[in-house]
Amino acid sequence: MSTDEIQETARKYALRNAVQFDGKANAKSVIGNVIGVLQKKGFNPRDIVPIVNSVVKGINKIPLEKQISELEKIAPELLKKEKKQRDFSLPELPEAEKGKVVTRFPPEPNGYLHIGHAKAAIVDYEYAKRYDGKFILRFDDTNPENAHLEFYDAQKRDLKWLGIEWDEEYCASNNLEKHYKLAEQLINQGDAYICNCPPDVVKDGRFHGEECNCRRNSPGENIDLWKDILSSSLESMVLRLKGDMTSDNTAMRDPTLFRIIDKPHPLHGDKYRVWPTYDFAGAVEDSIGGVTHPFRTKEYELRDECYFYLLDLLGLRKPHLLEFARLSIEGMPVSKRKIKPLIEDGSVLGYDDIRLPTLRGLEKRGILPEAIKRFVLTQGISKVESTVTFGLVEAANRKILDPITKRYFFVKDPVQLVVQNAPAMEKSISLHPNDKKFGSRTVKTGNTFYVPEEDIEKMKIGEIFRLKDLFNVEIKEKNDVVIAEYAGEELMPDSAKIQWTTDKYIKMDVFISHPLFKEGKYNPDSLEKVQGFAEEAASSIENGEIIQFERFGFVRIENTKNQIVGFFTHK
Ligand code: ATP
Ligand code: MG
Repeated sequence: MSTDEIQETARKYALRNAVQFDGKANAKSVIGNVIGVLQKKGFNPRDIVPIVNSVVKGINKIPLEKQISELEKIAPELLKKEKKQRDFSLPELPEAEKGKVVTRFPPEPNGYLHIGHAKAAIVDYEYAKRYDGKFILRFDDTNPENAHLEFYDAQKRDLKWLGIEWDEEYCASNNLEKHYKLAEQLINQGDAYICNCPPDVVKDGRFHGEECNCRRNSPGENIDLWKDILSSSLESMVLRLKGDMTSDNTAMRDPTLFRIIDKPHPLHGDKYRVWPTYDFAGAVEDSIGGVTHPFRTKEYELRDECYFYLLDLLGLRKPHLLEFARLSIEGMPVSKRKIKPLIEDGSVLGYDDIRLPTLRGLEKRGILPEAIKRFVLTQGISKVESTVTFGLVEAANRKILDPITKRYFFVKDPVQLVVQNAPAMEKSISLHPNDKKFGSRTVKTGNTFYVPEEDIEKMKIGEIFRLKDLFNVEIKEKNDVVIAEYAGEELMPDSAKIQWTTDKYIKMDVFISHPLFKEGKYNPDSLEKVQGFAEEAASSIENGEIIQFERFGFVRIENTKNQIVGFFTHK
């Protein structure tokens, strides 16, 4: 029994715990792990505790990237286990058999996808993968009033960007003939009827739990009417399910299954005029599409009874319908219905406005698909409705970006700084503080610099600060131009380190997004434009690259022939 073995075991478990919890291990948990392993071998907990405490202290001082790489070296099995746990943070599906699970994501092609859709799509996709099953992309395009051609492809592109691949793709509208057959079956069975009551009468009947006269028509009469509706221009008629007009669940009070929509469909033109409602199409498509585990958001809970009732009447297979809460984010509209008017009335600049939670907006802002996935999986599939802050997405994103982004200098609201007696220099400054593989840029300096107004304002005459990675200067005069004096190169631990550019700067605007809604109201200051100078080397940042402007934040750069602009990702 040696202290070396305790040391070694403690180090492994401390690293694992640190990697699990953002780089900070918890001594108590690690003590538990180590005692669990070593007590069996006859070690005394009293010897273990002080060693673990000191190991944890040491581990917590090293950066997360180093913790991961060391764990990879000394105990890769612990790291793998950790990864596995993360990917599979979703609970098991009920009655799920390997190879037989079928899930689907059913967007309506009526807008660009947002982070709420990402939640649904990721959950569906991850479950299919986990059980070696099948994942279907189904366009729920049975309302020609909403469906638009541009969105089919746009939504597919957004899903691909998220890293989602599907095994099968189809449009519910292509199955319309099948839907008609099933409708006929219901009519023939006496389970559905044509109703020509005006909408307010239907509504009233539902409210008071009263049946209308149309309900008494025979199946034969209903079939004739149905055929007339399909072929001719009979107006204002709907097909209703014979449910229960006195049911406590109002969704069961003879819901509408089909209605007339005289509008050309983006894929079928004027071929059809009778279209199924969500109650009918949703249930039927899940069943005939072979879906075993469909997810819906919780707001449909009341309609579940209708879903199963319909499938029972039709003699169709019943899937395991599952539910999770809709994703809501503070200050952000996570709904196509809410996003659309904002675009139409000019409150935002378009579907890819960086203030929006659309996948296009998030992409433009510099949020990575992997961060969205991690965020969604840590949120899980609870049914409890809650509003989360966007900070959670940012935190997941920051963790991925930090080790992989180059650092540059950006000077917000620049003020000119002239440094007397400054030695001319050619300085090589590395592009990442702890990773040499990113290389460096070389900056030639003279005596003219630009520094952020905000920093200068806080300083007094006579104060010494450091032009970061260069040298120290002492402030002599603060006017429109700040005059300073060269004050040596020696590092001074307590002095401020300020980002700077030379007089060879690049003008750059950076757009920063703030919450679109504050206390429920549109926030007119939600898009901020910051003007500043970026260092010359920033001109080589690639179009679409995300970098970090030191002490300013992560920024996604758009660098085209005509201009270079930045979109603030987060701090
Ligand atoms: P929206 O209000 O954005 O139009 P929707 O539900 O009408 O929402 P669909 O295109 O019909 O949009 O949605 C496709 C799938 O995405 C559905 O399964 C739906 O439940 C899911 N979904 C949509 N919005 C969210 C959200 N905010 N959180 C979780 N899932 C969502
Ligand atoms: Mg919908």
